[in-house]
Amino acid sequence: MQYRRLGSSGLHISALSFGSWVTFHTQVDGTLAKQLMTTAYEAGVNFFDNAEVYARGQSELIMGSVLEELGWGRDTYLVSSKVYWGGDRPTQKGLSRKHIHDACHAALKRLRVDYLDLFFCHRPDLECPIEETVRAMNDLIRQGKVLYWGTSEWTAEQIVEAAGIARALGLQGPTMEQPQYNMLVREKVELEYHRLYETVGLGTTIWSPLASGILTGKYSKGIPDDSRLALPDYKFLRDQLETEKGRERVATAERLGEVADELGVSLPKLALAWCLKNPHVSTVILGASRLSQLEENLAALEVVDQLTDEVMERIEAVLGNKPQLPSRF
Ligand code: NDP
Repeated sequence: MQYRRLGSSGLHISALSFGSWVTFHTQVDGTLAKQLMTTAYEAGVNFFDNAEVYARGQSELIMGSVLEELGWGRDTYLVSSKVYWGGDRPTQKGLSRKHIHDACHAALKRLRVDYLDLFFCHRPDLECPIEETVRAMNDLIRQGKVLYWGTSEWTAEQIVEAAGIARALGLQGPTMEQPQYNMLVREKVELEYHRLYETVGLGTTIWSPLASGILTGKYSKGIPDDSRLALPDYKFLRDQLETEKGRERVATAERLGEVADELGVSLPKLALAWCLKNPHVSTVILGASRLSQLEENLAALEVVDQLTDEVMERIEAVLGNKPQLPSRF
């Protein structure tokens, strides 16, 4: 395993980490979760990602029971939660001091830990002043219930505002952002946050590195019955595939498969290695519904060295979506 600093913080996070969205509770029960987490941990993964909204708390319950059962030293791993979608009532959602406080305490109970290493604001809350959120996160840090806080899918402007408020008030600002990043979705990580890696010292824990599985090539002949896009509750992902853009994505994955073949590696490994190649990525969060997928994906680090300038150019030619910084001429 390789370890990277989480932005400018002193925290060393494994370059590959493991998350439970969609999978835990829906596809993965407690027994398989234990096998998956053990395999990840034994491969050097030290970060396990979760959120209050995943399977409406069931995902954290499963992870918490596995953590308790396995009894790893609390100083050997990082676990996260995210706050935003806690329930239907007005006090159960968003980023108010009230919901941040309640969500943190509920996650601690479900995950059976005394503190969260990372706590994310799962989306920006346009109906809550950012200062209220910064103060609430800082309080949890002061109380020892959270170590680092961050954002997910915030705009650069919102992150800069939070960092500025924290700096002005002598509070702890956001350490990391959790954006989607993969060969098909690049804008935020490569363009929008461009300056924040230096100015804010932003770390990134990136999600859906395989675009929910599209970048494995598994959707080239339709939707397999045992795949994520066939799950009844994930119609929105299925619908996306049926648009023109979705079909283009599948075609791109097929062309990337040819590059992977030439290199003698699998497409999932190539797609994950491509994410790892970006130095602004602190950790790539893996998702897996079965052990064989996780084992394959954990080997992606071996492929990074094969991504020479020439290979990266070849991939770029297939993708044709490199975000462009404004030209100075
Ligand atoms: P991916 O894009 O890597 O998708 C993972 C899924 O792809 C698996 O569950 C599996 O689905 C399929 N897959 C994975 N590896 C293989 C393989 N080698 N061969 C074939 N199929 C494979 O990641 P996720 O979308 O799961 O995201 C990873 C993590 O990121 C989440 O668990 C969560 O922690 C975080 N996340 C955060 C979000 C946020 O808003 N902050 C949003 C989404 C995710 P299947 O077998 O069912 O087809």
